[in-house]
Amino acid sequence: MSIKKRIVVLGGGGFIGGHLISRLKKLGHWVRGVDIKYHEFKKTDGDEFFIADLRDYNKVDVVIDETIDEVYQLAADMGGSTYINIGENDSDVMHNSCLINLNVLKICSKKNVSKIFYSSSACVYPEYNQLDPLNPKCTEDSTYPAQPDSEYGWEKLFSERLYFAFHKDFPKLDIRVARFHNIYGPYGTYEGGKEKAPAAFCRKVALAKNGEEVEVFGDGKQTRSFLLVDECIEGVLRLMDSDFKGPVNIGSEEMIEINDFMSMIIKISDKNLTIKNTPFNGVGVRGRNSDNNLINEKLGWKPKSILKEDIKDTYDWISSKYSSI
Ligand code: NAD
Repeated sequence: MSIKKRIVVLGGGGFIGGHLISRLKKLGHWVRGVDIKYHEFKKTDGDEFFIADLRDYNKVDVVIDETIDEVYQLAADMGGSTYINIGENDSDVMHNSCLINLNVLKICSKKNVSKIFYSSSACVYPEYNQLDPLNPKCTEDSTYPAQPDSEYGWEKLFSERLYFAFHKDFPKLDIRVARFHNIYGPYGTYEGGKEKAPAAFCRKVALAKNGEEVEVFGDGKQTRSFLLVDECIEGVLRLMDSDFKGPVNIGSEEMIEINDFMSMIIKISDKNLTIKNTPFNGVGVRGRNSDNNLINEKLGWKPKSILKEDIKDTYDWISSKYSSI
């Protein structure tokens, strides 16, 4: 390992943040997790865990102290399509996540933090390039003219710009920005409204009995790609170790129709289930796929996880939660 650092993971009580803390500890760093809540599914592997509302400037001032070398900023008010795409949480999503990023950057620019990672999203990409489900365009240079299909995407785009603006004005504060594309894995929310499609699909299948229908929103022909959380974290760490600031996609290029994704999970479950497609106003763009040319060019690496094989652990973990029902 290189030098042991003092690291803060904001959003450390969340899905990706929880996995990131474990990985940073394995690499030998000293890690402080921070979140508005404890992790729902596991005890933190971090050296410390602070409960703090990052919308509060004074709390951010405490959790990012003078001893901290690096910050990973994953805290956000976010969820799956039933949270960010239905138009009922837009003011919260924008207000809460903006405040977090504004506070975090202001504090980091005043302290000794040398580098900060920011988790942006594929949701920044313009809707007009994602109308054809079989041919979406999500290259990093296709972001402008901007037209994200959700306010969540607009907030991410604004915050990306905020990170680059702070770096420009405070060059000692280095930044790295990645755009995650649908990350999945165990130890993430799978019920309650904030879960994302892979966890929601696994829950629906786990709860269904032979002969029943499982619901998929929309006509099922919309496309997405999904990346295993371990690979996401590998990409984040490689980006942090590189000279490239981003923004760069961290996602899978294995695009799949959503009904086929549900069929994949049904097959893993060994149940006899049929898919019921239902209209839903928050389906999102027609097609989305990561484009990994830039990450390959800049980092000499791209993720290789295989959905059909790697989704099984997530299904097994979620179905184990319902095994006593
Ligand atoms: P998550 O919801 O599990 O984690 C986010 C964490 O932020 C949560 O634990 C939440 O409690 C915390 N948080 C929210 N408001 C806070 C506040 N005011 N103060 C302190 N903590 C607060 O989500 P995740 O899937 O782990 O995503 C992590 C990051 O990656 C987010 O920024 C998200 O937007 C981004 N991202 C995720 C995906 C994905 O597929 N999971 C895709 C694109 C981008």
